[in-house]
Amino acid sequence: MKWLLWILLLGGAIWLLRGARVRTPAQARPGGNGDHAQTAQQAKKGSREIVPCSLCGVHLPRDEAVVGPDGRSLFCSEAHRIELQARQRRGGADT
Ligand SMILES: [Zn+2]
Repeated sequence: MKWLLWILLLGGAIWLLRGARVRTPAQARPGGNGDHAQTAQQAKKGSREIVPCSLCGVHLPRDEAVVGPDGRSLFCSEAHRIELQARQRRGGADT
């Protein structure tokens, strides 16, 4: 009867590990305006494509990105989409 308990424990551990792998924590970088992250290039393309934010350049999965009004530009958040739109409206006069 002891082996049954071990099998259940092992199965549970594998199930937990799989679940943890599917949902990896988002790469929150303090000061995202640094150099480009090379690791994003190594991310598997297809199932989960990693795209950079058009404003701050932070990398995030495409399905979590906010699509801009032109349908091509992607943003990490709704706030950054609005921010870039506001900048473009001002004429991009940024020093
Ligand atoms: Zn952003």
